[in-house]
Amino acid sequence: MRSAPGKLIVLSGPGGVGKSTIVSELKKFDHFYFSVSATTRKPRPGEIDGVAYHFVSDAQFQEMIELNTFLEWAEFAGARYGTPRLPVLDALEAGKHVLLEIEIDGARQVKRSMPDAVMVFLQPPSMKELEARITNRGTDTQERIAARLALARQEMAAAGEFDHLLVNHQVDEVIQALVSLATS
Ligand code: 5GP
Repeated sequence: MRSAPGKLIVLSGPGGVGKSTIVSELKKFDHFYFSVSATTRKPRPGEIDGVAYHFVSDAQFQEMIELNTFLEWAEFAGARYGTPRLPVLDALEAGKHVLLEIEIDGARQVKRSMPDAVMVFLQPPSMKELEARITNRGTDTQERIAARLALARQEMAAAGEFDHLLVNHQVDEVIQALVSLATS
């Protein structure tokens, strides 16, 4: 007997809101299949190729686009990011719930090609908190911080396009909400 197809959950939201923290916590449980994206950005310390991302060159990414590899892809902060289509479709067909953690442009593409996807927008508790997170993060230059803040403000304006808004007050609460969206 074939299993019922899994649900595709798209988790999006502004850069700096804490999407990747949610995903790393969720990985401790067995609720989802996590798509591994391809990116042209360089690995950060500790990121393993094939686990965090498939790190590829610009030419390789371009070839992947031409081979129609991606369910969606987008440019973000000077690099390209894409979700390989086949592993996602295979996991859904096998009855697994799939979680994509992607930026907003890519989320829109997924909604267009897979209208049943459950679209979730992660919001910061306040704009002030998001700004503090972006400003305090890492070793970015003032210029980069200003660019990231401007982008985050634009991204916040897309919240109304999503089916579900989750406020990132508590990681545990967000995780619970995502699991119940997948299993309900
Ligand atoms: P980072 O470089 O910090 O890992 O990710 C930057 C942004 O790219 C984040 O907002 C993340 O959600 C997004 N992202 C990661 N993988 C993908 C992908 O496959 N497609 C799209 N559209 N965005 C992605």
